[in-house]
Parts: sequence; C-alpha cells; structure tokens
Amino acid sequence: MAEVSVLGTPSVNAALLQVAVEQSFSAVLITNAAQDEKGPLIQYCNEALCAMTGYTRDELIGQSPRILGGPQTDREVLQRLRECLREGRYFEGRAINYRKNGETYCVEWNISPVRDSNGQICHFVSVQRDISAQVRAEQDLQLLARALNAADEAILLADQQLRVVFVNHAFEELTGYSYAEFKGQSVTLLRSGIHGMDFYRQMEDTVANGRSFRATFVNRHKSGSLYYAEQSVTALRNDAGEITHYVGVSRDVSDAVEREMALREQATRDKLSGLLNRHAGESELKRCQALAVSQGQSYGLILVDIDYFKRVNDQFGHAVGDRVIQMVGKALSDKVRHYDRVVRWGGEEFLVILSNVSVNEALESAERIRSAVAACEDAEAGRLTISLGVGVWQSHETEETLLHRTDCALYRAKERGRNQVALATGM
Ligand code: GH3
Ligand code: MG
Ligand code: MG
Repeated sequence: MAEVSVLGTPSVNAALLQVAVEQSFSAVLITNAAQDEKGPLIQYCNEALCAMTGYTRDELIGQSPRILGGPQTDREVLQRLRECLREGRYFEGRAINYRKNGETYCVEWNISPVRDSNGQICHFVSVQRDISAQVRAEQDLQLLARALNAADEAILLADQQLRVVFVNHAFEELTGYSYAEFKGQSVTLLRSGIHGMDFYRQMEDTVANGRSFRATFVNRHKSGSLYYAEQSVTALRNDAGEITHYVGVSRDVSDAVEREMALREQATRDKLSGLLNRHAGESELKRCQALAVSQGQSYGLILVDIDYFKRVNDQFGHAVGDRVIQMVGKALSDKVRHYDRVVRWGGEEFLVILSNVSVNEALESAERIRSAVAACEDAEAGRLTISLGVGVWQSHETEETLLHRTDCALYRAKERGRNQVALATGM
C-alpha cells in the first residue's frame, strides 16, 4: 500500500488518510486541474459532501463543481475563486450554493492546489462546511440588536459579575459611553454615590427573589454630571435557575425631576426676597418645636419689623419699598449661621429661627442683625432701622406661645423707641 509523507510526520498509510477523509464531518471535494472550457471536474467527494448537497457520488463525479452554484451565488466570490485557481493560489470564501432539490445553503470553503513531482498543478482539494445555521443565528442576533437599538429605552445587559455585555444606542446616548468602550466594564461605573449601599442591597434582594426592581436612579454620565433615570432591573436565569445576567431598562427623567425640584423649591421661597416664605417658615418652626420636645434641644426666634416703613413707600414709592425689603432680607441672611433660617414672615416683617441656641446667643445674634441693618443704606430711601423681639424656647412651651411672647417683645422694642432689641419675658 502506498505511503504518503504528511508534513514532517512519519509516513502515514494512504488507506488511513482515505478513511479519515471519508469519515470527516467536513465535506471534501477533489477536482482535476483542467483549464479548458468545462474547467476542473470532480474526481472525488466524500460522504459529507453528498449529505450536504443531496447528490450521490455518481451524480457528482465527472461534473464541474459549478452545478452546486446558482443565481444567488455571489459572482464576485466566483470571480476571485477562478483567479486563485488560474494563478495556483489558496482560496477561501463563503457563498450561497444549491442542493440537488434546489434548496439553498450557505457554504464556507477553501481550495488548495496540489502539485505533481514536476511542480505542475494536478488537482484542487476543497474542504467545505455548511454554515447556514450559523449564518441564520448571526442574522437573528443582528435582527435582535437592530430591534434593541431602535428602542427609545436605554437597554443594558450585564453578566453575573455586573460586567457589561451589551448596551443599545439609547443607552449610549443616555450615559455618554459607547458600546465599544463600555463592554466588559463594570456597571458600577454609573453609580453616582448619591444612593446608599442599602439601595443597591435592596435591588439585589429584589431581583434575587425573582422580581423586577424599579426605582428612580441617580446615575453618573461619562462627563461626570448626574442624571435621573427611571430604571428597572431584572435577573436572567439559566435552566438550573441560577442568575446568569441582569437586564436594565431605563428612561431619562432628569427634566421632569429637575422641574419638580424647582417647583418644590419655588413653593418654599418668597419671590421678592428669595427667603423662605411664611408657609415654609411655619413648617420649619414645627420641625424645631418637635426636635425641642423630643430631644430637649432649645431654639430661639427673632421677629424683625422695619421701622417707619410706611414712610418709605409713601415718600419713594412701592418699588423702592420693595428694594428696601430685599436689602434688609439680605442683611439678615448674611448675619445668621448657615443652619439658621430666615423667613419673610409678613410684608416688612421677618422671622429668624435659630436652632440650638441660648438666650445670650440669641440676643447677640439679634444685636448683630440690628447694627448690620442700621449700617445699610439705600440709594434713595437712605438709612433705615429695625426693631427686634427675641424669644428662646422654654420646656413645655408650644411654638405658638413662644411666637406670641416674641411678638410682644417686638412690640415693646417699638414702644421703647425702635431700633432696638427686646427680650421676651417668661411664660
Ligand atoms: P412701624 O415702625 O410701627 O413698624 O411703622 P411702619 O410704617 O413700618 O408700620 P407697619 O409695620 O405697620 O407698616 C407696614 C407697611 O409695609 C404697610 C405696607 O404698605 C407695607 N408693605 C407690606 N408689604 C409690602 C411689600 O411687599 N412691598 C412694599 N413696598 N411695601 C409693603
Ligand atoms: Mg409691620
Ligand atoms: Mg414696620
């Protein structure tokens, strides 16, 4: 039996090679090297090639491999193939071919020229594989990706270790990260630091229990800025019920959230002075009172009223009056601690709420405010003064009685000649 030398290995029995080729899962086809009109003709094909094409061996031997082609076969690929054969070069390609029954399939194949002892090409050996299923799967995947990319919602797929597997176009737009740069990175990159660990723990617990976790997330855009996303996170499981992936679907709600926050902020602010309005001041008063009752933490009030303010309006007009209110409001804000609150309590009356304060500290604070306002000067109205009543919470007292005592003190300050501070008397 003939012995064939195969690439440096010891001689291999030719019969063994024939069995190997015969049993190969890959389709193998050998042609002669005829260059006439009919071209190379099939001299050998294995069982896998018959199975792939639907032809018997007898039907194929002596035929041109061209009988496997048809209208959908890519002309350019065939052109390249012919050039390779003519020039004795290796060829590799993929194209649509036709089975005997007319059905198409996608084939991937290579062709190597084989030379005789004179160096002349005597055969072409072609190994082929039906990749129709693979191509269909690729097309299905591409279709799915196209569908996901067409969605308005930002979609993220991460593996069990929270590494990004896929993101769609809407996600790229929302986060600033491209698919290419975000792939393989941890989704924790999006965390803003605004949510506590318990937020993420709650998310993990919810999805681990087979439910979707829905919340408004504050996330960090690639640029560093924050955005609000209404987001749902769901776990994907394998047949064994183990979590393999997480799917996140989110929608940018930054505009709506910011609008709402601005509205809420607006609702607590007085338009003219920018200080807390009366409604917000009352809430703040209640909050301090609750803290005082529950923790014994005292708080103080300073009621401020501009002296002879009517004259300003009468002499210089309402607009100047407004400007004076703004000026006094600013002086008040500048002179209190950052955790104290300044409220526009009425027309030209202000309430300062001092948290955690002693009587002396409240009096000092009031005096600071009084002298600061006395030093201010309006371009038209000139200098103005204020009168101040000071009250500090006493245990078992309600906020109403404290406010009443403080108001009485302000009245006394007016009575005593204005531009002064009066301390509220006890209950
Ligand atoms: P007193 O020293 O006793 O406080 O005298 P006063 O003139 O300041 O008297 P009062 O506090 O009663 O005056 C309040 C005036 O403030 C009446 C009102 O016309 C004016 N006022 C209230 N709200 C506004 C406002 O928003 N803008 C302007 N320009 N004036 C206001
Ligand atoms: Mg007044
Ligand atoms: Mg007044």
